[in-house]
Amino acid sequence: MDIPVFILAGLLVHCVFLVSIFDIYFSSPLVHGMTPQQTLLPPPAKRLVLFVADGLRADSLYELDGNGAPRAPYLRGILENNGSWGVSHTRVPTESRPGHVALIAGFYEDVSAVAKGWKENPVEFDSVFNESKYTWSWGSPDILPMFAKGATGDHVYTFCYAAESEDFGAEDAAKLDIWVFDHVKSFFNSSRSNQTLFSALNEEKVVLFLHLLGIDTNGHAHRPNSREYQENIKQVDEGVKEIASLIDNFYGNDGKTAFILTSDHGMTDWGSHGAGHPTETLTPLIVWGAGVNYPQKVTSQFFEDNFLKEWKLENLKRLDVNQADIAPLMASLIGVPFPLNSVGTLPLEYLNSSALFKAESMFTNAVQILEQFKVKMSQKKETTLSFLFTPFKPLSASEQINFLKKIRLYIQQQKYDEAVSLCKTLINLALEGLSYYHTYDRLFLGLSIAMGFVGWTTYVILVIIKAHTNLTKTVPTNKKKSTVLFYGFAAAGMIIAFFLLIQACPWTYYVYCLLPVPVWYAVVKEIPVIQDLARNVLSLPIGQSIGFLLVCTLGVEILVFSFFYRSALTVGLLVFAAWPVITQLWIQAKTKAMIWTLLCVLLAIFPLMPVVGREPNIPLVIAAGLLTLLISFFSLASLCKSENKYRDNEDLKVYFYQMLSVALSTYVVSSTHNSLKSKQGLPVMNQIISWMTLVSSPMLLLLSPTFLFERLFSILLSLMSTYLLLSTGYEALFPLALFGLMFMWINMEQEALQHYGLSLKPKLAVFNFTCAMDITQFRQLHLDDVRRSFFFVFFIVTAFFGTGNIASINSFDPASVYCFLTVFSPFMMGGLLLLKVAIPFVLVSCAFEAVQVTTQLSSKSLFLIVLVISDIMALHFFFLVKDYGSWLDIGTSISHYVLVMSLTIFMMVMNGLAQLLTTQRLGLSRRTKHHST
Ligand SMILES: [Zn+2]
Ligand SMILES: [Zn+2]
Repeated sequence: MDIPVFILAGLLVHCVFLVSIFDIYFSSPLVHGMTPQQTLLPPPAKRLVLFVADGLRADSLYELDGNGAPRAPYLRGILENNGSWGVSHTRVPTESRPGHVALIAGFYEDVSAVAKGWKENPVEFDSVFNESKYTWSWGSPDILPMFAKGATGDHVYTFCYAAESEDFGAEDAAKLDIWVFDHVKSFFNSSRSNQTLFSALNEEKVVLFLHLLGIDTNGHAHRPNSREYQENIKQVDEGVKEIASLIDNFYGNDGKTAFILTSDHGMTDWGSHGAGHPTETLTPLIVWGAGVNYPQKVTSQFFEDNFLKEWKLENLKRLDVNQADIAPLMASLIGVPFPLNSVGTLPLEYLNSSALFKAESMFTNAVQILEQFKVKMSQKKETTLSFLFTPFKPLSASEQINFLKKIRLYIQQQKYDEAVSLCKTLINLALEGLSYYHTYDRLFLGLSIAMGFVGWTTYVILVIIKAHTNLTKTVPTNKKKSTVLFYGFAAAGMIIAFFLLIQACPWTYYVYCLLPVPVWYAVVKEIPVIQDLARNVLSLPIGQSIGFLLVCTLGVEILVFSFFYRSALTVGLLVFAAWPVITQLWIQAKTKAMIWTLLCVLLAIFPLMPVVGREPNIPLVIAAGLLTLLISFFSLASLCKSENKYRDNEDLKVYFYQMLSVALSTYVVSSTHNSLKSKQGLPVMNQIISWMTLVSSPMLLLLSPTFLFERLFSILLSLMSTYLLLSTGYEALFPLALFGLMFMWINMEQEALQHYGLSLKPKLAVFNFTCAMDITQFRQLHLDDVRRSFFFVFFIVTAFFGTGNIASINSFDPASVYCFLTVFSPFMMGGLLLLKVAIPFVLVSCAFEAVQVTTQLSSKSLFLIVLVISDIMALHFFFLVKDYGSWLDIGTSISHYVLVMSLTIFMMVMNGLAQLLTTQRLGLSRRTKHHST
């Protein structure tokens, strides 16, 4: 295959692999086409008022303050005297949008929202608002419109403050809530002079929704333990009291209004939400008014958390619910159909109504969820060949009828408790079945993609063996045989396509299932190479081949592990430390081997340290600067002593400037952070020096001679002067340790070459990067080159995770750019942080460039090996993609996959940069042509 065709094919295959995860893992679970279900008995309430205090934690509302007084006296009075209360358990991600969807539409928003963005409704859904006669809502423009948009007809009204004018809450976020309360009051006032509105308000099945964003905003700004957050709770409490009495007065105390107060999610002590900590997932729920149970006195009740005692509520029955259960509760209070996609179970204990009403409501609930199951099943059945279809056994058609008949009978016989418990069983089975059919295709699609992955990787391995090794002889291809093969694979492709066609699969399925066909065709076409290879491998001792395979597997597994546990890198580095001993290299180079081992152990410490930025430690940065200076003094001294006739004294000046630059950086870091500590801001002079260092250091580097050691030292000094400015702690020492190891690596690889008798005694000291380019004839690949490439990938991954996790944005600390700017500027900060992350890669890449040219390894064959390693890793991450958990978990699992997939491209770019940095020299006529890649 030609190189451009190969690259194109590779890109295409990887694009398909990448896109496939969104189809396989992140598809919407919602189904459409169910009939609405509703009890025919008269509902207890005519209208419902829903207060959602955004970001309100359960304990913040229920606990008593320092004086033993409740934080929200009115609401406390309600739950003690005339309502029911409990904790509503939210699911992750604990964000506003999924929280509100669970409350109002009754389902936990699917992760396809990740793929489709946050902006609009990714999918259409039904909600209690949509089922109501009229809904009026007040609050944030981020929440309200999504329920108005999904609603059919013109009966959901929203009143939001403009997104831009959210600033009016800047100094006091509670004003956002005051805005809502004020607007509700004036709304009811205006209705007295507006006949249409007045009669609409007096209809049945009316919902009033008050979204109160103040508490969330205050929590983010000041944290939940702040006075601001707690004051805001008090203000909301007063507001709820006023609105409740206003509404009761408006309707002449008809006792037909139900009230619900809850929140969409909680908040951690440090003011964030999104993940699954109990402070985020436990939200309050207080329900009172028409149709709602009064407080139930109990002598003892058991909950795993010890909150009841803390809240002094041991004697009032606590009724916990799942967040989505609130939607059916609201629906049955005002007598509207349950939202079509709701998966909530009606919390019966909140209801104060007849046993018949409860049993009927529960029955409706069960039928409504069963409807979804039926639709989902028939959809799957339609698109699957009947003999391949494996139904969800516990809920076969006859089972369903059995259940429904039995429940009906119990209700007729007035055995309401039995009816209710049977309904609950049916609901659980239906939910189980729903998820069974939702993930029905996952295994089959996953296997297809895995087939493609394995085929592609095998093909790349064959290409490497064929083109870059002398393991196989060129065998003339048998023309007749290959035509037969071609038709065979074409027929297989056709059969697969036909199968997909009769099952009416979406077009993306064709891509996933047909991709393995051409890939495996390409593999099978190379069968002579495989046979040749097999013969070669079989002639080797069996133990050796198995050992090689084991070591390869172990190596890749360690790399995969390091994405989750940075300490896996430590294990890997310790194995590296033992490498000279295992291969007996140490016999021929004792000192070098010892330094290598020492540096490996030293570098192994870094992945064990906490992620950067948590604890600033400027003295360590200064120490790193001084250490760099010390090392450069020694290397300069040894340079002066050595007699290299190609060297001129002009070159030493460049070193001098570079050392000066490192010294300046060290000074700037320490003085900037001192000045910031004493709250004097960033001195202008420091800022100027920082930016000048950033610009001048690459220039200086390009002025230095291109002899191997000189140029590498120059690269270190340049990068260090920038890195120091961007450091706040121990990470400043990381490039130094890494460079030390890289330097020893270059030396050790030379020893390894001699060990295998591949090279004569080299002269690394007089090796010139630009002269190396004249070598056009690269040698064939040796098995040891696989290890070399693995070292490269491993060191790149070490640069990834050595001091933090670059896959997660959480590990970036803005404090590290304070030498450059202190005003918030996301673009600039992002750029500088990216530079900081990139510096260790540049070091590794430059060192590897040196290894490549001194061992005469061609970059092309090398990148093919890297491609194989990264694809094997990618296959792991494909199966590790998560479709549950917090946005952070899901996002990280996707970013791992993308990261590994683009590893090869990333390394190619880095290799280009390394070539530029090692071979180019400014202002001199010694420039020579690039070496071929
Ligand atoms: Zn929220
Ligand atoms: Zn928030």
